[in-house]
Amino acid sequence: MKNLKQEIYFPIIIGIHFIFWAIDLYFYKGSFMEVHSDTMFFGEMKETSWNNNHRILGEVFSSWVVTVFAFNFLMATRAKWVERIFGGLDKMYLIHRRSGVIAVVLLLAHFFIVPRDLVAFNPGKPLGFYAFALILVGVILSAAPIFKRKIPYHKWINIHKLMGVFYVMAVMHGLMVNSLIKELPITRIYVFGMSFLGIGAWAYRAFFYNLVNKKLTYTISSIKDLGNQITEIILAPENTSLQFSAGQFAFFTFPSISKKEQHPFTISSHPNKKNLRITVKGLGDYTDNLAQKLEVGQTAKVEGAFGHFTLDHTQKERQIWVAGGIGITPFLSLAKQIKDQKVDLFWCVNKAEEAVYSAELEKVSRNNPNLNVHIWASSTQGYIKVDNLNVDDFSKTAFFICGPAALKQSLFKSLKSKGVSMADIHDEEFAFR
Ligand SMILES: Cc1cc2nc3c(=O)[nH]c(=O)nc-3n(C[C@H](O)[C@H](O)[C@H](O)COP(=O)(O)OP(=O)(O)OC[C@H]3O[C@@H](n4cnc5c(N)ncnc54)[C@H](O)[C@@H]3O)c2cc1C
Repeated sequence: MKNLKQEIYFPIIIGIHFIFWAIDLYFYKGSFMEVHSDTMFFGEMKETSWNNNHRILGEVFSSWVVTVFAFNFLMATRAKWVERIFGGLDKMYLIHRRSGVIAVVLLLAHFFIVPRDLVAFNPGKPLGFYAFALILVGVILSAAPIFKRKIPYHKWINIHKLMGVFYVMAVMHGLMVNSLIKELPITRIYVFGMSFLGIGAWAYRAFFYNLVNKKLTYTISSIKDLGNQITEIILAPENTSLQFSAGQFAFFTFPSISKKEQHPFTISSHPNKKNLRITVKGLGDYTDNLAQKLEVGQTAKVEGAFGHFTLDHTQKERQIWVAGGIGITPFLSLAKQIKDQKVDLFWCVNKAEEAVYSAELEKVSRNNPNLNVHIWASSTQGYIKVDNLNVDDFSKTAFFICGPAALKQSLFKSLKSKGVSMADIHDEEFAFR
């Protein structure tokens, strides 16, 4: 199945509205009137018929806002079918983030353009204003890079969950105020249907998700400090083992650190092993000094598996894999999955001694001549370029990239300039926010 990319997702969401609005307005026989109203920008209006531009445009914007957020709440359910549509949770969260920002721009447009009745008081009006202000603040806190740096993830996610409450307020506003949407049969069903779906999805994620999705219990059987802030943790299943494919990740909770906090880590062991291995780089308050925070014998809760960074999504046998730093984790598992594929794996590190799994990868490579491992030390060799990747024919090669954003962006750009299709570039994002 082809993944739904943002270039297609946004036009679909926008296009559906145009179609529904156009059909409804074409057949509209009602007599919606502005009695006495004004808009934030365009001033007073008296006895204007239903087809005044401000009314239609303002409500089109509001219907976009409601449905874009509804789809965002659906994405946040982490449902497998939703993940499949977008080609991985990381891709889905990227669209989720961008949609949130787009929805706020549309919300501003609605607020400034839509006419407000000046005659009758309706409690839906102040409710709408509070919903508008809270959603604005909520999205700024969620998406602005400055808050990304300043607010730790576990605090940020709690604030972010409040978006559902603000959304409920916005939907109630829509139900209470006079609107043209309420008179348009298709648009009304679509907008209110989606809004109830959105509220349901948010309520499921906020209140029922943990009841429905039972996590697997594992016990920590080994903790190794590999230096350079890297910790390797081996986990043994208490009962049922996690089902996963090489290259996938899961959400891990270590109750001895925090009962609630869940962090995504790629499983760096192969599915044919009973125990799970994760390899974690200290990058923040939770992951820093992880080896000192955990003890052998402690429990871990595991939820998964997720992700599309697997070999199932390409038919190409010739493959180039590029890992940057801790981005090696999916490849440690994938390396043991190679059968007929011919793979060159480039592991980019600052200094060669940081490649802590080079011996393990060389052993896999000795047992399987289809895998060639190259350690690329940027302090002596400079940053890796596409010309360093041993590619004979770009059109017959699939690329798998996992590493820092700068590495990915530079390789993406060069690969595109060589005519490589995006369908042949597979990447994993190590951040959802
Ligand atoms: C699909 C995926 C696979 C990953 N695999 C690995 C791996 O194999 N090894 C490894 O070292 N790191 C991996 N990471 C990154 C790892 O999850 C973060 O480095 C870690 O969660 C940082 O937490 P922190 O509190 O120490 O740092 P913070 O400074 O609080 O967070 C740094 C960034 O990490 C992300 N993050 C933090 N907490 C969470 C959370 N609970 N859920 C989602 N994202 C969060 C956010 O983008 C945040 O901005 C992976 C991330 C993703 C999304």
